[in-house]
Amino acid sequence: MKLDKKIFKLINLEKKRQQNTINLIASENYVSKNILKAQGSILTNKYAEGYYKKRYYAGCKYIDKIEYIAIKRAKKLFNADYVNVQPHSGSQANLAVYNAILKPGDTILSMKLTHGGHITHGSKVNISGKIYNSIFYELNKKENINYKQIKSLAIKYKPKLIIAGYSSFSKICNWKKFRKISNIINSYLLVDMSHIAGLIAAKLYPNPLKYAHIVTSTTHKTLAGPRGGLILSNIKNKSLYNKINKSIFPGTQGGPLMHIIACKAICFKEALSKKFIKYQKQIIKNAKCMVKIFNKNKFKIVSKKTQTHLFLINLKNKNISGYTAEKILNKANITVNKNYIPDDKKNSLKTSGIRIGTSAITKRGIKEKNSIYIAKLICKLLNNIENKKIIKNIKKKIKYICKKFPI
Ligand SMILES: *Cc1c(COP(=O)(O)O)cnc(C)c1O
Repeated sequence: MKLDKKIFKLINLEKKRQQNTINLIASENYVSKNILKAQGSILTNKYAEGYYKKRYYAGCKYIDKIEYIAIKRAKKLFNADYVNVQPHSGSQANLAVYNAILKPGDTILSMKLTHGGHITHGSKVNISGKIYNSIFYELNKKENINYKQIKSLAIKYKPKLIIAGYSSFSKICNWKKFRKISNIINSYLLVDMSHIAGLIAAKLYPNPLKYAHIVTSTTHKTLAGPRGGLILSNIKNKSLYNKINKSIFPGTQGGPLMHIIACKAICFKEALSKKFIKYQKQIIKNAKCMVKIFNKNKFKIVSKKTQTHLFLINLKNKNISGYTAEKILNKANITVNKNYIPDDKKNSLKTSGIRIGTSAITKRGIKEKNSIYIAKLICKLLNNIENKKIIKNIKKKIKYICKKFPI
């Protein structure tokens, strides 16, 4: 077989980039060799529209077994009564849920994008904001979830759906409070656990399935699986489960990605292991000790602390934008992403903050000592953004750490 040189050369370069970079992007991770292998397998050749033993294509004997195992493992992992492993991504999972339970024009109550919400939670630039009428809640003055505001907005606008679960909130959500509010107005509660699914699987973060009617997730963030989506529920309502299944296929998707579903099955098995719990514990430890260093160096942490894999740094007092910080760090082989901070005055391409996450570096085997070291290097970089010599010097140090912790 002749390799497609152009593409494989680029894959190799990307591999080197990943190897030589300290990745602090909170939504990224590294998959296991098992998952990589299954993702590149012949399962990608198979069409399997439909569900277990009810397919629109012949030849699904083994496919059925794979999807069945994936569902069974996910049920065990998250203590769910219903699981759909077919969503191609977190966004697809959310869209399918909306399509299952809402009508065009219905109202959604969710977190404002600049306060940690996700574009698929009703943003005007996303289909969710075009089809549905979205109302947003915010973080309060102390940068905590504003349950009072959520309650009053819920009573005033009577949304059909309340969404919890965020892309940059660093603390623990009170799912019970959310459910209490949704009960007052008899609305659905959706928890989007995309970011924290790994922590929830390891029981280090409260499981939303106890309170939410529906839970959506990605499988590639803290959960460390393949790029994909997931829908779960525990409300023992077969008619709702059917609606969601129909909303995925034929409602919003065609054939499932069976190679990815095999990877999801592997990922859930990995997440059921003791090793995984240890991994998730270390992720939080690493995030917490980095926050300490940033605090010491007068960097402001949004919501003051972290109880998860991530935190936001508000750079206003340092007089640099998120964009500049991202660029300078990237020069030293540290990748982070710029991020809105609550009530950001800067636009989405500039922003006033950066988001830092520790799932990827922890997967490489990095523990407190080197997390602290990396945080110190970041402080030094951001305090000396014009100093080329310092940037060069730190890049060398980062490359050295990368070598010590191969992916
Ligand atoms: C990442 C994320 C998503 C979307 O996931 P994709 O797989 O990129 O579509 C949805 N919701 C939240 C809260 C997320 O953080």
